[in-house]
Amino acid sequence: MSPVRTLSIWKSSTTLADGREIVYFDEAPGLGRATVADTRPLPPRPPGPALPYGRPDWGIRWDALAGEWVVIAAARQDRTFLPPADQCPLDPSGLGRLTEIPADSYDVVVFENRFPSLAEPLGRCEVVCFTPDHDASFAALSPRRVRTVVEAWVDRTEALSALPGTRQVYCFENRGEEIGVTLHHPHGQIYAFPFLAPRLAQMVAQAGAYAREHDGGNLFDDLVAAELAAGIRIVTRNEHWIAFVPEAARWPYEVRIFPAARVPDLPALGQEARDAFGPLYLDVLRRFDGLFGRPAPYIAAWFQAPVRDPEARGQFAVHLQVLSVRRAPDKLKYLAGTESGMGEWINDIVPEEAAQRLREA
Ligand SMILES: [Zn+2]
Repeated sequence: MSPVRTLSIWKSSTTLADGREIVYFDEAPGLGRATVADTRPLPPRPPGPALPYGRPDWGIRWDALAGEWVVIAAARQDRTFLPPADQCPLDPSGLGRLTEIPADSYDVVVFENRFPSLAEPLGRCEVVCFTPDHDASFAALSPRRVRTVVEAWVDRTEALSALPGTRQVYCFENRGEEIGVTLHHPHGQIYAFPFLAPRLAQMVAQAGAYAREHDGGNLFDDLVAAELAAGIRIVTRNEHWIAFVPEAARWPYEVRIFPAARVPDLPALGQEARDAFGPLYLDVLRRFDGLFGRPAPYIAAWFQAPVRDPEARGQFAVHLQVLSVRRAPDKLKYLAGTESGMGEWINDIVPEEAAQRLREA
């Protein structure tokens, strides 16, 4: 007998005053949040960068030496930067103050970024707010709320994948001023890229080469199986997920979280894996915070299979990379001469010791 699912999420959407889309993911029915109008006198949005490469101050350029795309987004230099808490644009509207979210509360909400790096038809940038509580953090969310966030990621991955020019959907969170966060309110971002970002492109190429050299074998399956067999770098796991420090970790504290059963992207995750993600991820984040007894500055990055590429999708494994730039209580990892100059990483922490410290945190 399969367990009865109690999860329900109510989705509704509308547009903000300048035409941007906003989508509410509610944990109760009938809240009517999408019926609340945005009454701010916002200026109209600038036209998006035209195909194929945009305009000089906003678009994409090809770095022929690296074989990589670079995004030029000079138009967003005047975006909101660390506003006072009483002017946070990610709070719900209320008490005479109008924000990016017209409703007087929300559970999880997603909207198009007012200052996007990429805009249609050359991609799209969305903001996802995890909680109306300005002073919370992802690590402080309930498993129920994380489950709602997962559903929002799934929904936006499907929606952005359906846009004609999308090659990759990237869900991520930057946390901490050390990372360059410009808004403290707990939030993440979702990018639709019109190309494959360099790291994903490399992974797809590696997985393809591995399959050719190993009689159709799967790089991700073999890598996760090897980590399970070795055991020494595993940080935590449950029935549906495994979290480990990569053997060749680049960052002082870096964890990759894979589902036990390989699927190409978040929408392909089964309900049980979606349910089991929150408890494991919250455990990982609390271990990061426990390392130095203070909130860890981190980046959490979802790797998802390329859109409209059946061969790559057949080989890819969705997974989350979590990395912290803090290497000691008062020391940050900076990308210096070898990393920034040569793309060659030098890690001061032995990955097996990082795993042990995270297990003990
Ligand atoms: Zn806020």
